[in-house]
Amino acid sequence: MMITIKSPREIERMRQAGKIAAAARSAGSRMVRPGVTTEEIDQAIRECILSCGASPTFLHYGGFPKNACISVNDEVIHGIPGNRVIREGDIVSLDVGATYKGYVGDCAGTFPAGEVTPEAKELIRVTRQSFFEGIRYARAGCRLWDISRAIQEYAQAHGYSLVREYVGHGVGENLHEDPEVPNYVPEAGRNPRLIPGMTLAIEPMVNAGGPGVRVLSNQWTVVTLDGALSAHYENTVLITNGDPEILTIADDL
Ligand code: MG
Repeated sequence: MMITIKSPREIERMRQAGKIAAAARSAGSRMVRPGVTTEEIDQAIRECILSCGASPTFLHYGGFPKNACISVNDEVIHGIPGNRVIREGDIVSLDVGATYKGYVGDCAGTFPAGEVTPEAKELIRVTRQSFFEGIRYARAGCRLWDISRAIQEYAQAHGYSLVREYVGHGVGENLHEDPEVPNYVPEAGRNPRLIPGMTLAIEPMVNAGGPGVRVLSNQWTVVTLDGALSAHYENTVLITNGDPEILTIADDL
């Protein structure tokens, strides 16, 4: 495992990339309403990223065909934008990456379309809050799995389960760098101490039902095994000598 420590100059670029990714997530979230297609949301995200002089990181990444991942209801992650029409009551997860001057910002969030059930609202709230519970430990001197544990305990205390097959990750010049950032405490493996200059994409994926997932025949879209709702929340976070700095924070999210 090779965890990169970013220099001040790299961190400045990560800040810029993060700001753009956050703006694109916001632009996408404002499009989430009944009657809109996921393709239209994808285009809004793309235009926001391009207008900032950045490029959509996910486009062609590992062959991914679109600019953002848009995952609806029981879709956990890696939903492919297309002609699906958002309906009243849907919950829509947007995962956005922006590359600026060679550095990546990665963030996600789940948004309600019109009026959603109280259960869906609560799932979105707990998923988001689990991220903030996690980053209480995103501090120099803590260990990586302190973050994992806090996310897991908070979400499970609300009766939800954490996806195990997909995890958060280091981020920087590459979308996926070491270390893996699980949303649960693994049985084995290395649990590194956190050091200032590490940049982590921390991204709880929380299922309303069981933890099981499967991949659809399109080879991308991950859905819950039991068909229950799933939500996602992610920011790129810088470890500092003090409080963590969220690089992909926007005013409203
Ligand atoms: Mg990510």
